[in-house]
Amino acid sequence: MNHADPWAIYVSEVMLQQTSVDRVREPWRRFLDEYPSPHACANATLADVLNLWSGLGYPRRARNLHAAAQMMVRDFDGRVPSAVADLRRLPGVGPYTAHAVASFAFGARVGVLDTNVGRVLARCVANNTLSTADAQGLANALVGRAASAPVNQGLIDVGAQFCRSTPRCGDCPLRDVCRWRQDGGPDPAIRSAGVSRPQPRFEGSVRQARGRLLAALRDGPLSVVAARRVLNAEDPEMSTRVLRDLQREGLVSQHGRRVHLGS
Ligand code: SF4
Repeated sequence: MNHADPWAIYVSEVMLQQTSVDRVREPWRRFLDEYPSPHACANATLADVLNLWSGLGYPRRARNLHAAAQMMVRDFDGRVPSAVADLRRLPGVGPYTAHAVASFAFGARVGVLDTNVGRVLARCVANNTLSTADAQGLANALVGRAASAPVNQGLIDVGAQFCRSTPRCGDCPLRDVCRWRQDGGPDPAIRSAGVSRPQPRFEGSVRQARGRLLAALRDGPLSVVAARRVLNAEDPEMSTRVLRDLQREGLVSQHGRRVHLGS
């Protein structure tokens, strides 16, 4: 497996959108063994891709990855595009993923702005609350003419390991140049763009119910009644709505009275 391959980097960035590195490592290897190129993924069925996604959660990402692979085959000669504007055309690709792939796969001089980097920029560089546009401008300026990937990776790592919500300034490699540490004041990261808010509870959530149904469908189709029961036996309105949403998103389909994984 070539870790510098743009497709491998693209898949990892999609998987990392809402999942930690530790949970992504094995599924990422498995996915690339099965689908080593956009062509291979585009030729698979959505149900197969969803099956391989098992355990990662947020299955919309699998659907988007499958659709993106098809777009790469159709519009980009079967390759991951290198320009940020082209990457943004791919389903499910927002500014963060487009910039990360452009920088890590192609060395583009763009800053990669995620939650962690947003905190580092607001505290260390600006000591000020930053809008998304300001933070992105600062991130772009920092990579400047240097090789962008090491700078971006360094900022992500500092944010993840030291500049957390509760910062570990004493161990931080940027402590001697950090403006917030030197000048003091209220924490500028708190209201800065891109800095995460607390996640809603998973237990009892619609997200949990959706995951439960998709997991059940991996063993084979279910009747509509059984599918609703898996979603939420005590709230028929909720289960009908969630089932309809899953169908609209193309993650499940109904043939007769049976619900299937994929379209
Ligand atoms: S010194 Fe503290 S506030 Fe500054 S970048 Fe490091 S962890 Fe963040």
